[in-house]
Amino acid sequence: MPETYYVDCDCGSQLRVELYHAGTDRACPSCSKSVMIPDSITLREMSGDKYPYLRPIEKVRHTARAGEAPFNGLCHGCNSTQAQFATPCCLTVMEERVVANDGGIRPTLTGVALHAASSEERYTATSFPLLLCEQCQSRFQSDRFFARMKSKLKLAALLGLLGAFLYFVYYNAEVVAALAGLIWLVGAIAWAAGFRDTKTFPAYLNRWFENIRWLPEAIADEDEFTLTVGQSKAIETA
Ligand SMILES: [Zn+2]
Ligand SMILES: [Zn+2]
Repeated sequence: MPETYYVDCDCGSQLRVELYHAGTDRACPSCSKSVMIPDSITLREMSGDKYPYLRPIEKVRHTARAGEAPFNGLCHGCNSTQAQFATPCCLTVMEERVVANDGGIRPTLTGVALHAASSEERYTATSFPLLLCEQCQSRFQSDRFFARMKSKLKLAALLGLLGAFLYFVYYNAEVVAALAGLIWLVGAIAWAAGFRDTKTFPAYLNRWFENIRWLPEAIADEDEFTLTVGQSKAIETA
């Protein structure tokens, strides 16, 4: 992923540029005035980040809340036009697993009490919008549609397989007993594997999230997270 740099325009909005834009003129997406992009060294220097000490996930949370870059209204798909649609996304990560009570025997006024060990999991939700212009939004919608179709097809194929299996069972009752053990084993393994896979990320989102500064790093950093992507809404323009 190419690193994105930020250049301020006089009108107050920020241009997202890449290194190869250095030394050229770019049109500001908000006021369409031409903005001079400095040379690559200056570009690197001034592409400061307001929250250098925060983790990527915290940077996403802070900038999204404050409406700062990369959530200042530019399209996350093409980086060049003002976004017209916002899709609410929420990344929930497990911050820590604290052992609240290590259990054991505790003296009490009336004798002793046995305490069970307990641990507490703390989750933090980071909400941010996926901002897209009209053109990018329609591409995003079709990506999303096909991704959903694919998972529906997978389910249909699975049900078809189950149907075929039941048909087989119906006519070959004597082999079922032998197979049952095997099926149970496979099922148990699949069930266990499902539990381990807490890092679920729909592949179609990759190309839409990769332009959002710090987000790919934030996702890569986390071991356990859940991601929810809501319904897109048109951004109200005043
Ligand atoms: Zn401008
Ligand atoms: Zn766009």
